[in-house]
Amino acid sequence: MITIFGTIALDTTETPFKKMEKILGGAATYSALSASFFYPTSIVGIVGKDFPKIYRDILNSRLDTKGIITDNDAKTFHYDSSFDYDLFRRKTNKTELNVIKNFEPKIPSEYAGSEYIYLANNDPHQNIQALKLFKKSKLVLCDTIDFWITNKSEQVFKMMQNVDGVVINDDEARLLTKNSNLIKCARKLIGNGTKFVVIKKGENGSILFTKNHIFPSPAYPIEDVVDPTGAGDAFAGGFLGHIARSKKINLRILREAMIYGNVMGSFVVEDFGIDKLLKIKYKEIQKRYKIYRDIVHFNGD
Ligand code: AMP
Repeated sequence: MITIFGTIALDTTETPFKKMEKILGGAATYSALSASFFYPTSIVGIVGKDFPKIYRDILNSRLDTKGIITDNDAKTFHYDSSFDYDLFRRKTNKTELNVIKNFEPKIPSEYAGSEYIYLANNDPHQNIQALKLFKKSKLVLCDTIDFWITNKSEQVFKMMQNVDGVVINDDEARLLTKNSNLIKCARKLIGNGTKFVVIKKGENGSILFTKNHIFPSPAYPIEDVVDPTGAGDAFAGGFLGHIARSKKINLRILREAMIYGNVMGSFVVEDFGIDKLLKIKYKEIQKRYKIYRDIVHFNGD
């Protein structure tokens, strides 16, 4: 089983074209829904008394949700952000931690044997605590965001020392490692103890770094981008989902996983929030994967 730990949120998102208030979001939500197309997935996180039943039903319909805890004394984590016409660079307006502020991670006992773990964007200290609850992990990934890098950078580095792979945005990699060049950023994170790093660059694709290899991959070209929120998380879900179902980890699988990551990200941006993830079928994922292969193919000597 894949288990994903992180925020289950109410997101307010504004683009020059539309504003959506308190829609279902959160790093764990996007990544778990994305991973669930590939492999059975469970989600662990905390929500508040204001978390709508309709959102709970959506999660229940796709995921093992026994790990969701409800705190009836506080509100759900709320993230408010906006985009300009580029629909790319995000401005954070508000991060209201609410229920996650003093959350002490707990998991149902049957999740302790999960082999594939994703510590999605969340308080790095809580992510470190959560990781200790898993006894049979084969592959652990994590992500972070500028909020935690600015407030808890030491804990972010510590979390990254304890995982196999880091999946992170370009700006955040720069902020964390204090380097401008992404190769240098990745080297620093590999030097910190992780085996591989995936740096996501939004519409410019993503790059996989291991100690001795670099694999750059373009984003799947999308003409009608609506809301980029969650693309990185959906990327991580597809990436981990493909590795989990392949049941082995080597460079070839990691490279294929990068393409599934790009494909999953390409769906999310086509609608607000998780809406597109709820509409697609697996065969559409496979169709984009094949188109992607044709797009990047070239005959060299
Ligand atoms: P992405 O666009 O893939 O980077 O992820 C966006 C998601 O991350 C949103 O749905 C937010 O609810 C969530 N998020 C934003 N800020 C934080 C934070 N400081 N900690 C945890 N999750 C966050």
